[in-house]
Amino acid sequence: VRAFVLDDNPPRLVADWPDPEPNPGWARVRPLIAGICNTDLELARGYMGFKGVLGHEFVGEALDGAFAGKRVVGGINFGCGDCPSCLSGMARHCPTRTVLGILGADGVFAESFAIPERNLLEVPATVGDEEAVFTEPLAAACQILDQIGDERGRACVLGAGKLGTLVAQVLSVAGFETDLVGRHLQGLGFVDASGVRRVGERAEGSGYDLVVEATGSEEGLALALSLVRPRGHLVLKTTVAARHAVDLAPVVINEIHIIGSRCGRFEPALALLAERRVDVRPLISARFALANIEEAFGAAAGRGVRKVLVRHD
Ligand SMILES: [Zn+2]
Ligand SMILES: [Zn+2]
Repeated sequence: VRAFVLDDNPPRLVADWPDPEPNPGWARVRPLIAGICNTDLELARGYMGFKGVLGHEFVGEALDGAFAGKRVVGGINFGCGDCPSCLSGMARHCPTRTVLGILGADGVFAESFAIPERNLLEVPATVGDEEAVFTEPLAAACQILDQIGDERGRACVLGAGKLGTLVAQVLSVAGFETDLVGRHLQGLGFVDASGVRRVGERAEGSGYDLVVEATGSEEGLALALSLVRPRGHLVLKTTVAARHAVDLAPVVINEIHIIGSRCGRFEPALALLAERRVDVRPLISARFALANIEEAFGAAAGRGVRKVLVRHD
């Protein structure tokens, strides 16, 4: 099959990658659309030493197993299934997990790939392909709600990139009065519909009950700390950040809850898409065919570019 492969060289499209051979309990999937995420750009630069087929954001058609012929999305963490983490429903934290297109498992920028069947979910007919492909990043945004409990109030999201924009919508829909702080807020009018308030580079005031750091910049954490109220929640949402040199005394003095947050459950994300409560399609900056995926990666790295999609037709 054709596949976009990373090895010791920069990633490139190869024509003769071996067909995926699914293990028992796995299914093969033919991607319909895949999304390029910042993690893919980092992996392509050699971050994490991954080798294999890149890509983890997809909507596709299952080729075999219980979902054969159905449109599916799928969780990207493949737990072993037997360890204490997996048995307590934390397969995303299985110490021997592989991760689709990121760690030890070939990804979705290929004509087909293999995935454990238990990771798959059928996409409701009301959710289009270009919406369903956002399920994975939207699930990562929804994960914050699973982590902070039932308290609501004022929220501030730092960083108006792809993830920050999704997080702000999710929080607003969940009942937070939400400010989105970022440098490039033009073209983001679609978030107003979910009740998000767009604030320029300077967040106004402080005392937020919840602050989400999604800038990935060095200054983000210090700014976030200055905005959160005593005993408030500060959620760190960026994995690829420079090392922070930040004064942690305010965390102690103000008893701040700092929470690291990564992947989330797909069910609430698909529900938000099916109910049309968040808008994702305005985040699409460009679409490329799989044949032009190298060009797509170049485009995805451009300034101000949001989501770049790869069509597999
Ligand atoms: Zn991603
Ligand atoms: Zn496990």
